[in-house]
Amino acid sequence: MRFWCEYAWLPDGPAAGVAITVDGSRIVSVEPGVPREGTVLAGLTLPGFANAHSHAFHRALRGRTHADGGTFWTWRERMYAVAERLDPDSYLRLARAVYAEMVLAGFTSVGEFHYVHHAAEGKPYADPNAMGYALAQAAAEAGIRLTLLDTCYLTPGLEGGELSRAQRRFSDGDAQRWASRVDDFRPEGLARVGAAVHSVRAVPAEQIPVVKSWAAGRPLHAHLSEQRAENEACLRVHGRTPSELLADLGVLGDGFVGVHATHLTDKDVALLGGSGACFCPTTERDLGDGIGPARQLADAGVMLSLGTDSHAVVDPFAELLALEADERLAAESRGHFTPTELVAAAARHEAIGWPEVGRIAEGAGADLVVVDTESVRTAGSEPLGVPLCATAADVRDVMVAGEWVVREGRHLRIDRPAAELAAVIEELL
Ligand SMILES: [Zn+2]
Repeated sequence: MRFWCEYAWLPDGPAAGVAITVDGSRIVSVEPGVPREGTVLAGLTLPGFANAHSHAFHRALRGRTHADGGTFWTWRERMYAVAERLDPDSYLRLARAVYAEMVLAGFTSVGEFHYVHHAAEGKPYADPNAMGYALAQAAAEAGIRLTLLDTCYLTPGLEGGELSRAQRRFSDGDAQRWASRVDDFRPEGLARVGAAVHSVRAVPAEQIPVVKSWAAGRPLHAHLSEQRAENEACLRVHGRTPSELLADLGVLGDGFVGVHATHLTDKDVALLGGSGACFCPTTERDLGDGIGPARQLADAGVMLSLGTDSHAVVDPFAELLALEADERLAAESRGHFTPTELVAAAARHEAIGWPEVGRIAEGAGADLVVVDTESVRTAGSEPLGVPLCATAADVRDVMVAGEWVVREGRHLRIDRPAAELAAVIEELL
């Protein structure tokens, strides 16, 4: 397949008149400055975006938690109420529609931070990975690359105590049993597996190295300092911040991604150099988490990625814009990240174990997103500014691994994703 793009976003920014040749699932040539020819992709063609942090079932809460305020922790109670009702069948139907929404928005991969493993009271399903397989099937049907970040979750908090009824579904008992369950999970097709420590709240320090050693060579994620309360508890119990604790346990470095990384000390930022950090700006503002030091982290050598986390919003343009906009609000100045840096962060498939995807370049995976540059939102913008004024509604075509999944704004495999979302959410709530 050969396409001629009116504009294409190359690793150093947008170029005009770019011919892209795709063979199978790979891009085999990219030629800028070519006269119009053959199959034309009008508008701006970007690399597919990576949703590096997702909890698919949180989507059920969208638009349902604003009326009575509350805190992160009261929001979490509602989220647990949804988790209690999921089973492999309803989770397949919910996640399939959520992943369809993601592809329609321009995401071509998702890192699913998955911790609802077991049936009520923590009883394993006949296949203990039934929930993971439901997510893998959902991703395959929706046409998105999946990294199942299978999550170890053992304790309700740093100061011990009993797991709540909902939390018992998350626990394998200990990290060894978590590892042996995940060993049996065999993804197929466009699915891979990685690991996660839910947080320093949910995995005792002495068990975290078990997860780290299982993850060798795969991505390892952990929620990190999203809330000040987590930092305070960690200081009380361990005399260290969560970043210091993970550093002392040998967890930080290549392959590690701290999710949120919101409330950090200068020392934490330095320790995280050489690791990754996944910001989820639309969720962080929805939950009132705060603004993390994104520029400071990038300057310290942290690889930034982006995720939609709770799916209060599913829109890669909203996340990449917020990465810059939040810095502007916090610093009272403009221009902290270039548009090229923002697009690179939003296309960081490497953070979830797809290093070959995320660039329009020879040899890269053929994941493309074509954006309308003549909508009411984008008309008049120069190509360099389009990612900062487009929204998910401007995504016209999406190719994943060499196959069109979205054409002219329609998902080619799932006819009515909105109706599917409404039906399964009504059933769950
Ligand atoms: Zn999360």
